[in-house]
Amino acid sequence: ELAEIGLVGLGTMGAALALNIAEKGHRIAVWNRTGTVTDAFVAEAGELAARVVPTHSLQALVDAIAPPRAIILMVPAGDAVDQQIAALRPLLGKDDLIIDAGNANFHDTERRSAEAEVQGVSFIGMGVSGGEEGARHGPSIMGGGPRAAWDRVAPILTSIAARHGEVPCATWMGPGGAGHFVKTVHNGIEYADMQMITEVYGLMRDGLGMAAPAIADVFDGWNAGALRSYLVEISGAVARAVDPETGAAMLDVILDAAGQKGTGRWTAIEAQHLAAPVPVIEAAVMARNVSSRLAERQAGQAAFGAGPQPVSLTVEDLEGALMAGKILCYAQGFTMLDAASKTFGWGVPLPECAKVWRAGCIIRSDMLDHMAQALTEDPGRNLILAPTFAALLKQHHGALRKVVAAAALNGHGLPALSAGLAWFDLMRTARGTANMIQGQRDFFGAHGFDRLDGKPVHHGPWGGHA
Ligand code: NDP
Repeated sequence: ELAEIGLVGLGTMGAALALNIAEKGHRIAVWNRTGTVTDAFVAEAGELAARVVPTHSLQALVDAIAPPRAIILMVPAGDAVDQQIAALRPLLGKDDLIIDAGNANFHDTERRSAEAEVQGVSFIGMGVSGGEEGARHGPSIMGGGPRAAWDRVAPILTSIAARHGEVPCATWMGPGGAGHFVKTVHNGIEYADMQMITEVYGLMRDGLGMAAPAIADVFDGWNAGALRSYLVEISGAVARAVDPETGAAMLDVILDAAGQKGTGRWTAIEAQHLAAPVPVIEAAVMARNVSSRLAERQAGQAAFGAGPQPVSLTVEDLEGALMAGKILCYAQGFTMLDAASKTFGWGVPLPECAKVWRAGCIIRSDMLDHMAQALTEDPGRNLILAPTFAALLKQHHGALRKVVAAAALNGHGLPALSAGLAWFDLMRTARGTANMIQGQRDFFGAHGFDRLDGKPVHHGPWGGHA
């Protein structure tokens, strides 16, 4: 009996995805570069092994799948994907389909899509979120490529995806690199969400003198309210954990230098290319970069003083600040998606992005459900102007202001929350200050400017300097 689908790359994500596919009743053929990994995978698949077809050559993999074939690649992003496409393509026909499910840079996906069109094998670039656990039991899936190709594999993908109520979190976002782009912005928002939580953690630890278990209680409390989300939930669990070796709070033995694989950086870089303001995400990437400069930070504290000082804030202030910061960050992320969608002509359905992130992925939260509703009402409106979120911002921006001000006066760096607040204040200032920039530009570069009164005078009276 031929398999419905194939998969290349039985690493962490590929193995989990293959088991998920088999569990949902689909026969799947698998191949891995290192054959012993394939054998071990089947040996450990238990009763699901009955629906797994192990193969030991790419030709055998292709032969094991019913045409028109669909093959998922779950190998490291970059060269490995190009190598696998090059190896598979000669074995495939024009109705066959290759699906790259790794964390590709969307520029690579755009290129591969264009190459696929020439070479006559369909190509889908698909973002998969939720880590190993998500891949195994229900990831959030963001697809991009030819709509007809997506529709062909959609029944399998929706069957393995996470569910929000009855709605599966597997959605076609548009042609070419749209799916991988949406996944990239998801990861950028993930960086920002994590950073804002980290900033209020710092205020609790260094500003309010709270120990890790008390901080865990606060996160647990927030997770029962409007901030309910996977990231707040796991922050509580992280704060509660105890180091088995020393008995100390786990948080207090973890080195304060954050790792990153680059998707947050891609979001910041693409935002700059698109002139889309995402200061909270940029600040979050910056903060990770600063965190890894441990020796410099130590020298900085020695040179400039004693680090963060006590603050007079309440836990309710912090909760309000986090609420406001989160809304501002997501508003920026959706604006960026909209800008990319228009620039690349993808037609990304913004409400569907909010919906696909409601379950399975790292940034899943209750608030995303309300965001999906607000974007459905009016996808073209900035999220901060949607009535639900405008009301929340009116309620909480005072807390954000208070927290950022107290932090600034007492030496706590809050890059993400303060960047969010600065953006918010710019966004509610009808008469801004860029008239000075325009004056300066005209002064030194004769760049000209528009006038408020609409008169056609395009240069200032800068005399001999102009
Ligand atoms: P792993 O390192 O666990 O697995 C990599 C797999 O790719 C292995 O099966 C490996 O085979 C194979 N492979 C490596 N290089 C090549 C190559 N040149 N040619 C063919 N096969 C190769 O990676 P993950 O499963 O963690 O990640 C896979 C993709 O999924 C990445 O793009 C990652 O960014 C993305 N991703 C990962 C998440 C995670 O939480 N881990 C979450 C979401 C996306 P072999 O056994 O021979 O080494």
